[in-house]
Amino acid sequence: MLLEIKGLSKEYQRRGKAFWAVNSVDLSIGQGDFVNIIGRSGSGKSTLLNMAAGLLMPTSGSIRLAGTELYALKDKEISELRNTRLGYIPQGLGTLSTLTVFDNVRLPYFLSRRQGDASGRASFLLDEVGIFALADMLPSQLSGGELRRVLIARALMNEPDILIADEPTSDLDIETTREIMELFARINKNGTTILIVTHELDTLEFGNRVLTMASGQLTEGSHLGSL
Ligand code: ADP
Ligand code: MG
Repeated sequence: MLLEIKGLSKEYQRRGKAFWAVNSVDLSIGQGDFVNIIGRSGSGKSTLLNMAAGLLMPTSGSIRLAGTELYALKDKEISELRNTRLGYIPQGLGTLSTLTVFDNVRLPYFLSRRQGDASGRASFLLDEVGIFALADMLPSQLSGGELRRVLIARALMNEPDILIADEPTSDLDIETTREIMELFARINKNGTTILIVTHELDTLEFGNRVLTMASGQLTEGSHLGSL
């Protein structure tokens, strides 16, 4: 298994009372999977993804990424693993800097001090996600759909085994949502494992598995309607 999550829980306090934002989640994702997670707002989806991405320490449970127990590592080692094996796109659009599109995409390469042709790979990826013509633009000049493409290209810069994205189609129109989902499908076909949170029920034809999050618990299948 590429990503193996067992008994994963996260406890938070709300008005002095403890509650489980994520409650005993088990999830195994194999190489080449394309997994969709759906669920209502507040059900614990982002909390789960943040833990899986090595950004949030679980209260209990286990996360193995490519056989390595994530939270047994030191912070620095977790960052290293995250930078090399995992592409993470957090919820929202607030993570792009004042750099050009091209430099935004190249950035992870330098942050992880990789040797090699960063510009060549960035050009390749910009072409791959369909915005090569926008390389010199600033993020503030782009549409929501174009920004999502920048974030996707940037997350792929270090050739991750798995791409994790939190609601990558939120705030997009139906047409653009479909284009972004098609892009994920193509990336998946080229060998990258994908785990995304989505709420676009009509796009669930993309991917090979759907799971539903409700009150911190994750179950196989799509059953938002019954919630
Ligand atoms: P989703 O992504 O499904 O909308 P979240 O994972 O963001 O849900 O949040 C799950 C629950 O945990 C919500 O009730 C939210 O208010 C709560 N929560 C999230 N982060 C924190 C935090 N840092 N402290 C306390 N409660 C939190
Ligand atoms: Mg969320």
